[in-house]
Amino acid sequence: MNLTRDEKMKFGFDIDDTLINLREHAFSLYKQKLNKDLSLDVFHAIKKVEIHEPFGLTEDQGKEMWNSSLEEIYFTTCPPFTGAVETLQELYNQGHEIYYITARPKEHGERTKDWMKQQGFPIQDERFFYGMKDDEKINIIQQLKLDYYVDDKPAVLNTLTGEPVKLIVKDQSYNQDLDMDRIVTWTDFPEIIQGN
Ligand SMILES: [Mg+2]
Repeated sequence: MNLTRDEKMKFGFDIDDTLINLREHAFSLYKQKLNKDLSLDVFHAIKKVEIHEPFGLTEDQGKEMWNSSLEEIYFTTCPPFTGAVETLQELYNQGHEIYYITARPKEHGERTKDWMKQQGFPIQDERFFYGMKDDEKINIIQQLKLDYYVDDKPAVLNTLTGEPVKLIVKDQSYNQDLDMDRIVTWTDFPEIIQGN
């Protein structure tokens, strides 16, 4: 990857469903736990962040299912998206600053950091933030003066559209209405940055 300018930049990344394929991982866990054989087509057709509806769960049951499965959802075999680890490593090796900003609950923050390191993501402890609400991410992003920020959630990205940070949305079924630079595969990241 060759970025056009020599200047070092600050890149911020959400984790879940931006760098790692968490919802699909949770979907397959739900299938096992609830003994329901749903296809991936069903998964891809879900138009919201929450995944419980195809399993016939109410919103409350869905929350309960998510919370009771959280250990397995977060800390087992959730795969990073193809090229995500390599792309971030390359940015890091070029001297850019890499920040992680996840709304995962505080009590899971340090373990999440360790888990992410084990997956090969380049992480410096002081550049890893967690435990804020979706609409509080803006405070950190402002303080850090990020050049770029990548997230999947409309509820986060919509709070940032008036900020100087360049926004990139990780393509997902539930964010198709967002009109901003969009990343479908991580190997395309250099191109998107260069087009800015
Ligand atoms: Mg996310």
